[in-house]
Amino acid sequence: MLKWMGLAIALVFASAHADAGVKDSTNGWGYGYDSLLHDLGVWRQDSNVRIDSVGASVQGRALWMVSITAPGDSVGRSGDLPERKHRVFMHARTHPAEVQALWVARESIRFLLSDDAKAKELRRDYIFNVIPMYNPDGVELGKARQNAHDVDLESNWDENPMEPEPTALKKTFMAFMAGPTPIEVALNLHADSYNCARFFFFHYAAGTSAHYADLEKAYIGGVQAHYPGGLKDWDFVESWATGTVTHYPEGFWWVNHGDKVLALTYEDKNTLTQAGADCLDAGGYDSTGTALDLGSVDYIKSRILAPILARTSPVTRMLLQGEGVRFPPGLSAHWEIRDPRGRRLAEGAIGRDGGLLAWNQMPTAPVRILSMLPESGPAERLILPFR
Ligand SMILES: [Zn+2]
Repeated sequence: MLKWMGLAIALVFASAHADAGVKDSTNGWGYGYDSLLHDLGVWRQDSNVRIDSVGASVQGRALWMVSITAPGDSVGRSGDLPERKHRVFMHARTHPAEVQALWVARESIRFLLSDDAKAKELRRDYIFNVIPMYNPDGVELGKARQNAHDVDLESNWDENPMEPEPTALKKTFMAFMAGPTPIEVALNLHADSYNCARFFFFHYAAGTSAHYADLEKAYIGGVQAHYPGGLKDWDFVESWATGTVTHYPEGFWWVNHGDKVLALTYEDKNTLTQAGADCLDAGGYDSTGTALDLGSVDYIKSRILAPILARTSPVTRMLLQGEGVRFPPGLSAHWEIRDPRGRRLAEGAIGRDGGLLAWNQMPTAPVRILSMLPESGPAERLILPFR
């Protein structure tokens, strides 16, 4: 999203890179509105898909939203979770040149519609709303970052009036928040052309709250757990270190809904960097899309179970990481993993140096609670990612 700079990057994108479609601004940067219409035609044949327009762009193109959930408003038995669906929202391609955000959204949809057993559970218990192309005019006009009015929609949220596209998105957000199934995770998908890295814009407590910063860390660690080695740690970029930035969508979320909604910008790898060099290992969109789906669901499950843990567990010093869970040093402690009914699935010792409990050392189960039990002091607990 390039939030720290406002360079005229169109110049960079105009340089000679006719070799790959994804760099071609005259072809919707490799995926134009027609491509989306084609995909919508395929997706809508699935009984788990509903497609709606949430509004229109400046030039009158529909802003399509793909909603994925198994038919029916309520879930049946949902393991150990409350019996209503939970909602995850994603919008992508605010910046047309960041086509990789589209590829990630598309892979997220592909996973959700797949035969994978986890995908089936996600469709049963969750509603995913995905707007794959939030700025279709910009895509068709070959703009790098703007809509048909030459406005960067990403930073339009504190304008009055707002552009038609954010106006429609905000209206959609507000309608869901007033309904029976509010949004719990809101992702804003981009592709960064500076770092050749996958990362989230973490919002520091100065612009949110200490509790929210903890929630963000837990969310990011949970997504990392589903794509080990694929994503940077939460502290890769500094954002909101001096206060809330209200002209971004995440500003809208924080100001209006606080810690009820985990709202983050995700940046994928952009194949073309600002330096003009290729980001050669861009890709892995299937891994990323799946990790965002599963990580979002893990986060919601953790929030549902948090009140149960809060009765017995202080804020934990255990840290979710890409490779597993990291224990803090300096403790003499045991760990154990139980299911929500309290049945112990595994246990072990933690050395004085702390250390890592790797994913492959843990049993698989839909919901697992990891406890760290120091020789003195209260137990600390953590909901483990969905595996
Ligand atoms: Zn962007």
